[in-house]
Amino acid sequence: MKPYDVIIKKRDGFRLSKEEIEYMVLGYAKGDIPDYLMSAFLMAVFIKGMDDVETKDITMAMTNSGHTVDLSSIQGIKVDKHSTGGVGDTTTLLIAPIVAAAGLPFAKMSGRGLAHTGGTLDKLEAIPGYRINLTETEFIDQVKNIGLAVISPTGDLAPADKKMYALRDVTATVDSIPLIAGSIMSKKLAAGSDAILLDVKVGGGAFMKTIENARKLSAALVEIGKLAGKNTRAVITDMGQPLNSHIGNALEVREVFEILKGERKTSALREVSVILSGHLIQMGGIESDLNKAIDLAENLLSSGKALEKMRALLAAQSSSDKVLDDLSILPSAKIVKEVTSNKSGYLNSIDVLELGIIARDLGAGRIKKEDNIDYSVGLVMYKRVGDAVKEGEKLADIHASSEQNANDNEDRLKKCFVISDVKTEPNPLIMDTIS
Ligand code: URA
Repeated sequence: MKPYDVIIKKRDGFRLSKEEIEYMVLGYAKGDIPDYLMSAFLMAVFIKGMDDVETKDITMAMTNSGHTVDLSSIQGIKVDKHSTGGVGDTTTLLIAPIVAAAGLPFAKMSGRGLAHTGGTLDKLEAIPGYRINLTETEFIDQVKNIGLAVISPTGDLAPADKKMYALRDVTATVDSIPLIAGSIMSKKLAAGSDAILLDVKVGGGAFMKTIENARKLSAALVEIGKLAGKNTRAVITDMGQPLNSHIGNALEVREVFEILKGERKTSALREVSVILSGHLIQMGGIESDLNKAIDLAENLLSSGKALEKMRALLAAQSSSDKVLDDLSILPSAKIVKEVTSNKSGYLNSIDVLELGIIARDLGAGRIKKEDNIDYSVGLVMYKRVGDAVKEGEKLADIHASSEQNANDNEDRLKKCFVISDVKTEPNPLIMDTIS
């Protein structure tokens, strides 16, 4: 078999066998297949798609490219969640401490930013001293001791995904249902938890732009989970506007810490995180009724119990929880530039994809695989869809490393806000649930 033959077969729209898929995935993971051939293969899959059997085969090939974590020594139902990726989407950092405060072991391996979307690992690395690389033994011991750990996948966990993820990020091959399903589920299956919740984002800032495609991706994810014998559920959530008001690594961490400390009582990020935590609490068997599970999640957040779990997480993984009491320890940008509205009316829509690209171009994400991130930069949003806006009123702040960067992005950012005379209702935060 040669990579060329597999690429041409997929390019011409034929179904690949399990052996052909394994040959490409395992060959790339081992370094036998170079980036340029894998890029062509990924583009062929992106354009021609894969059926259910091929999707399951690529997932299993990626899962089996490495080692599977054994969490069986941790008592209780181990729960995990994964977002398909959004802009200003920091739910993991709220869900982890809420769910751990409910008594469910939360053993989470997170990812980096992908294309225009942010990644939990990059956000965690914005916290000075936070160690994302624990050994598997340290990871399991920490979950046993404090109930939670959020780390980078250990070296040998779905290594094929690690390499393919970085390659897809820079070759415009991210938003493909089989590639996303394979990427997410290979990591989730290898990470060894019992129950998996998928937060499938839909809208302009997500990889799935329509509810139909979000449902297709959800069905693929849930089906793979079921075949692997895992309790799997997908909740489709809106990414027609950013979930957070902050976009960018340290900025997003700041918003999460403020919510945990009770300083932000109403926000879309808070609401969605509480609902997703409720789903996990139900899936973990702590409370059988979903509404009661969501109430419990709300209680754990508003009572400060989740904050205590975040303290424990920071004490364990960054050796100090001081940053929770002194947010000025977080990296902050040299320049903050206000962007105001040119007209009065109602905020009709936001170009979330462009917001993500602007944040990336400011330095919050990567353009090339090897790029370093500037944790301090990003955007702060002051309006949500449906809000009234007055001429001259602030729409957003640009947090930039230089005046030049801030100025270069001002007009681009203004164009992301569509203001009209008629008030539009925003999408509901939760669009559907598939289990
Ligand atoms: N998250 C992942 O882990 N992989 C993808 O392909 C998309 C989102």
